[in-house]
Amino acid sequence: MEENQHEVLHQNIAVKGSFDVIVVGGGFAGVCAAVAASRAGADVALIERNGMLGGQAAEVYSMGLDGFIDRNGKHYARGIPWEVLEKTVAEGQSDPMWRMADFEKIANEGLEKGLQEFGVDSRRLANDTYINPNAFRFILSRLVNEAGVALFLETPLTGVLVDGTRIKGIVAAGNYGHFGLRGKVVVDTTPHAGVAAFAGRPFPYFEVYTGSHPRVAGIDVDQLIQYVAENPDDVEIGLVASPSVDILHGLVQQGIPLEMNGFRKPRESAIADDPIYEAIGRGDPPKQCIFFYDRDGCGTYWVGIGYTRLDDPLTFSKTMDHMRANQWLTHKFFRDYVPGFKHAHLMDIHPHIARALRISREASGFTEYDIPWDNIEKGDNRYEDSIARVMGHPHRGQAPNGFQVPYRSLIPKGLEGILVTGKPASRFLHYHGTIAVVGQAAGVAAAVAAQEGVSLRLLDVSNVQEELARQDAVVF
Ligand SMILES: Cc1cc2nc3c(=O)[nH]c(=O)nc-3n(C[C@H](O)[C@H](O)[C@H](O)COP(=O)(O)OP(=O)(O)OC[C@H]3O[C@@H](n4cnc5c(N)ncnc54)[C@H](O)[C@@H]3O)c2cc1C
Repeated sequence: MEENQHEVLHQNIAVKGSFDVIVVGGGFAGVCAAVAASRAGADVALIERNGMLGGQAAEVYSMGLDGFIDRNGKHYARGIPWEVLEKTVAEGQSDPMWRMADFEKIANEGLEKGLQEFGVDSRRLANDTYINPNAFRFILSRLVNEAGVALFLETPLTGVLVDGTRIKGIVAAGNYGHFGLRGKVVVDTTPHAGVAAFAGRPFPYFEVYTGSHPRVAGIDVDQLIQYVAENPDDVEIGLVASPSVDILHGLVQQGIPLEMNGFRKPRESAIADDPIYEAIGRGDPPKQCIFFYDRDGCGTYWVGIGYTRLDDPLTFSKTMDHMRANQWLTHKFFRDYVPGFKHAHLMDIHPHIARALRISREASGFTEYDIPWDNIEKGDNRYEDSIARVMGHPHRGQAPNGFQVPYRSLIPKGLEGILVTGKPASRFLHYHGTIAVVGQAAGVAAAVAAQEGVSLRLLDVSNVQEELARQDAVVF
């Protein structure tokens, strides 16, 4: 044993249940995986460290159509991800643009044409379209419960049950100690492949950027609109070319959110009063200061700093501590220096600050197959074992009609009984729609393997493709 390593006291772990499939992580990918596996006939457990579902997708402001639809209006995130989106929007209090858009027309005539008659800029729907995070969480929990998934909330993963390189289940922390769950297949949807790390195969790319979108209530929108309309050099309004008081009031009355960026003058005043306000803004440099006005006097701040690392607990913790401080500082700045915020209150801060592993065109070598950048860029590669056609980001250089994800890219090298999603599967998988689609595919593959009693490496992928098609997913 190396000098800096110690053995942990041997523990006897009580096993509290056995399942066909255990999904770790209750973000958008994890919920889609669990519901898909259950709908494919498997007995499923879902474990999540937070007391709620949704992960980062409920914590970052923008849902948009990132990863859901291509520039021609074709859906690549149908199936469970699209079902979640439609049901969430039907709950109300999301951006009315979701209701205004005719998705059938968009699919037939393209994004630009389909949205023309609504007077909506297609970039607006493609990027920053707000969905209500609590309605989203409610729908996720409803689907999980309707599917009969055994849901373990406030249950962080703390280890794995292993037999050599074969993962046989997971260990989690309950209120009175650790317990185990046996599983024929584990689907690891933690963004950093935490299950694989506990099994001795850490994902080697640990750099993440962090961002937090805390919610604020009690804004006097009339005062705010007056200020931004009178100071066009100070605040830009996203995708609104000439933001007069009347136009902005019209948008707000329809419930359409406004993205505001700048607030340079008030920031200069604040910094002159106290240099602590130099920390306000997103990115380092340039400092962008973004506020989203949602509706009904409520909005969201964009608090962020650059990259940090997940593999060093103290460095990581310092970043998180710094981000928490910046949440309050951002609020104090708006409250004291920006018209309309005098009686505003910081309301909803999320249990974890969202962090995303660095997107990269480089292969990681972590799983059995790395989708080469060339295939992502051109999108014309056909894989016999494709389990999803996905969209990356429309502006990030990938093929305009998406690319295929082969099943092999979900199997980590050197381990048995586990599938991964997100960046451990490919460092270009990032966007909400995309990760949710891959989640659904992983859930179905796990269910089919577990029920057939076949090793993941020997699985007949055509059975997975068949079930995915039955679940309305796009496979090729
Ligand atoms: C600041 C920021 C802005 C972004 N903006 C956009 C955007 O505009 N458009 C877009 O499409 N995407 C955006 N993304 C990316 C997108 O939010 C994520 O890629 C996506 O939500 C990831 O979903 P996931 O289910 O893979 O992971 P997560 O949402 O991270 O879900 C993983 C779940 O696992 C749980 N978990 C972690 N560790 C454990 C453990 N030990 N035990 C139990 N549970 C655990 C977590 O609590 C979490 O719920 C952004 C990301 C960030 C950080």
